Amino acid sequence: MRVANFNGGPGALPREVLEEAARDLLDWNGTGMSVMENSHRGPEVQAMAAEAEADFRALLGLNGDWAVIFCQGGASLQFAMIPLNFAGPGGRCDYINTGLWSTKAFKEARICGANPRLAASSEDDDFTHIPEVFDFDPEAKYVYITSNNTVRGTQWSRFPHNAPGPLVADMSSELLSRPLDLRPFGLIYGGAQKNIGPAGLTVVAIRRELADKARLDVPSMLSYPVYIKNQSMYNTPPVWSLYVSGLTFKWLLNTVGGLNNMAALNQAKSDLLYQAIDDSQGYYRGTARPGSRSVMNVTYRLPGEELEKKFKKESQAAGLVGLGGHRSVGGLRASLYNAVTLDDVRRLVDFMAEFQRVNG
Ligand SMILES: *Cc1c(COP(=O)(O)O)cnc(C)c1O
Repeated sequence: MRVANFNGGPGALPREVLEEAARDLLDWNGTGMSVMENSHRGPEVQAMAAEAEADFRALLGLNGDWAVIFCQGGASLQFAMIPLNFAGPGGRCDYINTGLWSTKAFKEARICGANPRLAASSEDDDFTHIPEVFDFDPEAKYVYITSNNTVRGTQWSRFPHNAPGPLVADMSSELLSRPLDLRPFGLIYGGAQKNIGPAGLTVVAIRRELADKARLDVPSMLSYPVYIKNQSMYNTPPVWSLYVSGLTFKWLLNTVGGLNNMAALNQAKSDLLYQAIDDSQGYYRGTARPGSRSVMNVTYRLPGEELEKKFKKESQAAGLVGLGGHRSVGGLRASLYNAVTLDDVRRLVDFMAEFQRVNG
């Protein structure tokens, strides 16, 4: 039996995608072998990769000003690649700190020898909101943000428009959950395992104008221009992750009908859950400030850790999986990634009402 999967990451994948991957496992595309066993230099995998890129571009409306590349090393490797390529030793760059992942990215920039600076932070407020006032360095080579904070359940709804440099955004836990106005961005990226496909792949869209400014004294596997020049096949790419992600792109285009439809469905899912939290007379308490609430990761608490433990155990037994908060903060978290259905959320909301009736 399939469970309702609210995991924070790796997260749920669409049933149709898994079914297609399973059907094609032993004989993919008439090759008599799985996609994983095919040469990445062969015409079939080359065509598959080109199609995945084209579909990703179609979903986000990325034109020729943008390069799309597929990296490995998860989102965490981007924490290093970004400063290495665009700041360099002593290079100035601004960071907006909205939680665990941007804190890590900031530290990594230091390790890489760059000179990162905080343009804003919500740390004083325990990361419960998205900052609205920024102190930008006019010399900053880029401004780094985390667009959706997976751990804290906050999300940017309006991006800064007066940044001195291009915005660089970690979108790991929201990429392809909503359409984007890409004008302020120079680079966006996301680890696949939250909202796109299997771990092992990181999708990066980068403005060519920015890529042209990348430093060249960077090891090949960390160099954006090397990925671009080699169509992400400087070395063996994660073919399986790319293939499954490609199936998800097609699912979004053809079954869901694009990112506007996806965004409407995601909004309906999160509205339903936040409503249940807000209507619980304080029994369930959302941790993010209402204006900064994430559509993707809904974080909340119960009155006491014992109750939270009980909630996790009983929800799991009821087929509602992955509702524990991130290990750094505790509490509860429902991740409502694209593949989580409205019906899954209805089941969760019903469970919450019953749990409160019995334990409240
Ligand atoms: C999960 C996550 C990461 C870390 O991803 P890895 O692929 O494990 O490196 C980074 N940023 C955000 C926003 C995340 O949600």
